[in-house]
Amino acid sequence: MSTHRTDPVDVWGGEPIVQSQDRLRRAWVEVDLGAVAANTRRLVALVRPARLVAVVKADGYGHGATAVARAALDAGASALGVATTAEGLALRADGIRAPILVLGVEGAAEPLEALVAADLTATVTTLAFARRLADEAHRQRRRVRVHLKVETGMGRLGALPEEAPALARWIAAASALELEAVYSHLATADEEDPSYLREQADRFRAACEAIEAAGVAVPARHIANTAGLLAAPELRYDMVRVGLGLYGYYPADHLRGRVALRPALRVMAAVAEVRRLPAGSGIGYGRTHVLSRPSAVATLPVGYADGLTRRLSNRARASWEGRAYPVVGRICMDQCMVETGDDVPPVGAVMCVLGPGDGGETTVEEAARLTGSIPYEIITQLGPRLPRVYVGA
Ligand SMILES: *Cc1c(COP(=O)(O)O)cnc(C)c1O
Repeated sequence: MSTHRTDPVDVWGGEPIVQSQDRLRRAWVEVDLGAVAANTRRLVALVRPARLVAVVKADGYGHGATAVARAALDAGASALGVATTAEGLALRADGIRAPILVLGVEGAAEPLEALVAADLTATVTTLAFARRLADEAHRQRRRVRVHLKVETGMGRLGALPEEAPALARWIAAASALELEAVYSHLATADEEDPSYLREQADRFRAACEAIEAAGVAVPARHIANTAGLLAAPELRYDMVRVGLGLYGYYPADHLRGRVALRPALRVMAAVAEVRRLPAGSGIGYGRTHVLSRPSAVATLPVGYADGLTRRLSNRARASWEGRAYPVVGRICMDQCMVETGDDVPPVGAVMCVLGPGDGGETTVEEAARLTGSIPYEIITQLGPRLPRVYVGA
């Protein structure tokens, strides 16, 4: 890793360029845990008396699962949600003792021994899985908390409504299992037309009633994700499972305004090199941008391998000291270029390439819109090469 220039030389105006090679981190993700805490507090207040399950799967949507989990629990979350047993184990290994619901199901691949030993809460959708879980819990002389998931229209995971009462009866009768809740997941809560959400809600209500009619008390129920709790307050039931909102994003524009959330994440990079190039200079692979006038061009050490998707080429904006500049040319694997015109950020100047937009940089929601994606994908794509740096804790 080297730049061709090793001595501090002047790009054009006689001012020395400060080399930044002594910096270990030249690009990173800044995570504002104060924002996570504030978002959690607002959502907890909004859904009360329902409890809030803070969903920290996929490494806390790219923010770092353990740090987010601690911030959310301190701010009033009652439990955590993860996608896999392995994610739950990682939180336990970091000393987190709160209830952790494993939302996903991995069938025969599920490491049940570890799940039981770590006191994770399991999602159960089939009798075969319930039996294996009960056997393992017996063997370890432990009880496992279980949330029974029913299929109501997502078409992904869950016992069919007609199977749910028998499964619930079996779980309730198994001494090693503790039926803690019945739940389901919404497929269209972020859409403006609520009709399918209503259908799912009706099926969920019917499934819970059928379980109770079969003689099993349903201790708690939950169906709402971030979009669900914003779109349909009556669906908050006893718990809500909130991911995106914790991180400060809205699942859809029409759901803004129900609660004020603050984005927690910024992708930062320190200028690696800056040159003043003449009009007509081509920038990057394929020469997709050509300078129309002489301009300074700053190179940032962050690229698509870090999750700054190449589809933002010639579309994103980076901010520096409250001013926004276009990201020009194709985003490279490890770098991208920013046209700063007559401004000359020194080497080492820290720019923000994705953030809340307060400096004019591209926001996560805008990046999603520009690339035909969703905020979830933009933030979970941020790679492990970018260290997570926590502020505001
Ligand atoms: C990821 C997930 C959530 C959280 O969804 P958000 O839209 O991020 O709030 C809730 N429930 C389940 C089952 C999930 O997989």
